Amino acid sequence: MPDCLFCRILKKEIPSKPAFEDDSVYAFHDINPQAPIHILIITKKHIDGVAELAPADEGLAGRLIVRAKQIAESLELKNYRLVFNSGSEAGQSVFHIHLHLLSGRRLHWPPG
Ligand code: 5GP
Ligand code: ZN
Repeated sequence: MPDCLFCRILKKEIPSKPAFEDDSVYAFHDINPQAPIHILIITKKHIDGVAELAPADEGLAGRLIVRAKQIAESLELKNYRLVFNSGSEAGQSVFHIHLHLLSGRRLHWPPG
């Protein structure tokens, strides 16, 4: 998707601070962190969001979560939150699927 911000980050047309990479997933630090640790885990394949996941994407979607857990372990995070925003009214602003990993401060519930 040529106009997609995160596809452009994947192509390194836009710089990002990497946190993890494998053959199907890339993780990088959020430009506007909402916690001391705020990492975005994205698929290398463009998918608009959770609502657009196909049954065949099940393994890839699960991989996002497992990679988030492994990144949290590598950073020795004991408490963290994983968030998918799905749809603009739920806070999604970039329509390339991404999992937020937030940590490093007390996280309140419910979120705003
Ligand atoms: P959403 O609001 O769609 O759930 O999350 C999109 C996230 O992408 C936001 O937290 C926002 O700060 C982050 N973001 C937007 N543009 C950029 C960018 O150019 N670089 C990085 N690293 N993060 C970005
Ligand atoms: Zn994209």
